[in-house]
Amino acid sequence: MRKKTTSDELLLAMVTGADPVYHPNTGQRISDGETITLSPSARAGLEAPRFCQLCGRRMVVQIRPDGWEAYCSRHGTVDSSYLDRR
Ligand SMILES: [Zn+2]
Repeated sequence: MRKKTTSDELLLAMVTGADPVYHPNTGQRISDGETITLSPSARAGLEAPRFCQLCGRRMVVQIRPDGWEAYCSRHGTVDSSYLDRR
């Protein structure tokens, strides 16, 4: 796997199901106490996030036939294959 940053913060946040700080589809900051609704496919990890849920940066997203990879320059890479295990 390519690694441009050593951070795995974003991966950890998504694998553990931590509450996002920024909406992964719109990049908008989520205010305290607000619950966000993700589409079922996004929740299942089928839909690639467009924005880093930790910092709201637009991520570099690569769609593959079998999934996706999203990269935040600060928080690292998330690969959809990591989110399949449940
Ligand atoms: Zn980030």
